[in-house]
Amino acid sequence: MALDAATREALQARVRFYRDLGLTEFYRRPVDPALLAAAQEDMAPADPAQPPALFADFQSSQEEPIPPRKPFPAVPAIAAAVAPAQHADALQIIREEIGDCTRCALHSGRNKLVFGDGDPNARLLFVGEGPGADEDAQGIPFVGKAGQLLNNMIVAMGLKREEVYIANVVKCRPPANRTPEPEEANTCSPFLFKQIDVIRPEVLVALGATAATYLLGARQPLAGLRGRVHSFRGTKLIVTYHPAFLLRDPRQKKEAWADLQIAMRELGLKPPTKG
Ligand code: URA
Repeated sequence: MALDAATREALQARVRFYRDLGLTEFYRRPVDPALLAAAQEDMAPADPAQPPALFADFQSSQEEPIPPRKPFPAVPAIAAAVAPAQHADALQIIREEIGDCTRCALHSGRNKLVFGDGDPNARLLFVGEGPGADEDAQGIPFVGKAGQLLNNMIVAMGLKREEVYIANVVKCRPPANRTPEPEEANTCSPFLFKQIDVIRPEVLVALGATAATYLLGARQPLAGLRGRVHSFRGTKLIVTYHPAFLLRDPRQKKEAWADLQIAMRELGLKPPTKG
């Protein structure tokens, strides 16, 4: 397939980026034509004056724009991928790039930076908001009460926690667990996006409004985002409630389960049979 100049340039930049990281072995996974079409729409709107199709959903009166992200190269669905055997090393390189981070104000209250946890080759990747007190103490995402509920949700899907990957929009705990400021989230989320680009899960699940906002690039009420499949740079994205919210309002667990079933359908998973 011939590539247009912009895609070729993005692809070359991506390959140079991985070469700089010392990664030289690439493979190309089969391209799902539907995802490719979505990614192409996302990258190249027919009329540059119009918003890309990805953002068409966000033209409602409820839209509340978030400040623009720092420039981050778009990755086409056909971009060179890191070979699965190199995912762990590539994630480690991203961790080293973050280093003892002082890029935003959150570093000053940090005990441990929470990079991410799980299978570097996971098919399913959960994105939360940011570390809480337990995560800040241990350096591992979702290890507190909300983490226990997330573990149960993962088991209900017929998976083990070690089989998925879990990360957050920000890697340092916001004071008193407040929502990350746009400046903090926009500074940190490019590292999350790099992790996603390396892992290349089949499905992403955004846990709560903050994850949905920074993955989709616009703030919108969660209710309008749930129940369907979105796209994050060509990867299927499902939005559901944050486990901490479900702890406060357990009646919404049924709704969250419906969202997780969409993820399971996309992954071809059936819930485990009891007994
Ligand atoms: N809440 C989150 O959003 N992330 C965590 O890691 C823990 C709690």
